Amino acid sequence: MKLVASSTFLFDLAPLGAGTCEVESLTSYLARLAHAHTMTPYQLLCTLDAWSRHKLSKIVPRFFSARVNGYSPNVRRLVQALESATGRTDIRSCTLIHLSEVCAKNNSDCIKLHRSWCPACLRESAEQGLILYDRLIWQIMGTSRCNIHRSRLEDSCALCGTKQHWQHSTSIDTCTFCGHALADAPQSSRILPPDPGERHLVELLEYTSGEKAQSFREEAAGVFIHHVSKHTDLQDAARRLGRVLRKAEHTRPSLCSLLYISEYFDVSSTLILINPEKAAKVVALSIGRPRLPRKFRGTYLPRGTRQSAIERALTKEIESDGLAPSIRQFCNDNGFCETTVGERCSGLLKELVAKRSQQVASIRKSQICAIDRALSDKRLKQSFSNVREYLARVGQRAGCPVWLVRQRYMALNGDQKRRVRNGMLYMDVNIRTRA
Ligand SMILES: [Zn+2]
Ligand SMILES: [Zn+2]
Repeated sequence: MKLVASSTFLFDLAPLGAGTCEVESLTSYLARLAHAHTMTPYQLLCTLDAWSRHKLSKIVPRFFSARVNGYSPNVRRLVQALESATGRTDIRSCTLIHLSEVCAKNNSDCIKLHRSWCPACLRESAEQGLILYDRLIWQIMGTSRCNIHRSRLEDSCALCGTKQHWQHSTSIDTCTFCGHALADAPQSSRILPPDPGERHLVELLEYTSGEKAQSFREEAAGVFIHHVSKHTDLQDAARRLGRVLRKAEHTRPSLCSLLYISEYFDVSSTLILINPEKAAKVVALSIGRPRLPRKFRGTYLPRGTRQSAIERALTKEIESDGLAPSIRQFCNDNGFCETTVGERCSGLLKELVAKRSQQVASIRKSQICAIDRALSDKRLKQSFSNVREYLARVGQRAGCPVWLVRQRYMALNGDQKRRVRNGMLYMDVNIRTRA
């Protein structure tokens, strides 16, 4: 233990709400940890990468989606690095890592792609002077309401409508684009019905974030269905659950499917995962017909509907006048999986990509013209003795990012390349005068 304590380099910040359904999400924890070190989450991850032996660098960009709250191998690596850097052992409770051996390997139908929050919860915490944080349950696919306030979860800023991304945020409770308070959303008095399997999800999170959490039985869902089929006629279940049931029997189900099965058989998901035989016995003992789920959870769409939904969204983007989004942006905004979009609508996707690259190229062209104009101003050049400051000023004048200015400057002054790169940022003018 002593060794661990002496080799830590980040503050030993405790995750909030462990052991309850209000456990903090890893994205929220990272944002708070970064804030405590006066860094952005991106800077924190880069520092962690330099320090850790877990080779995060190649996957750091992937941590910038809410998926980091899930259970993929990358999440596991990040959690290991964080736990050794902080000397804590409970950071895993902020993720769904416990499900890695029992739920679908591809993480599908598990975590939403964008941030989602309950304004009422944030407001209450602020009023009571408590720390504001995002709950893991808000990030789980198919969770459309707050299980405490029974009101709709928000996913975009009430003022500017921007979907929230956490990587550049330094404050958890304001919009990353306009700075508007996220708790400040129009209050709706509408009470929403529970999402399918909500109570099972609450129980599951209480278990996985608690101290006593153990790893679950592998292929537990398949074992459960096998035992249930011995004493229950699965015909109705097969009709109601369709693909969900067939898949769960032979492969690992997604989290949404698992909750759906729990809802149908009215048996706890946690029990299915810990002791599938006992869960099957509970089903056999229960009196009356199984509950019939009213709607599907998550982004589950039957195959035909999914394809047409993707096609509709792609066509809308292609026909709109604004700058076309990148593939990742498009998928994040619409809640689609990048692979599915690529496989099902490759033609339309190619059109979107072509439109974007054309738009980007024309923007770049006009930016380069503006940079060239600013660079040709000899008086501006003479007023600086340091290239870095000079290029920043050129960028400001041309209204372009500094990296682009630097690239253009290096292209125009080939022999300057190394000097700029090595940080020996003296102007050729000055060097000549010195010589
Ligand atoms: Zn709430
Ligand atoms: Zn905003």
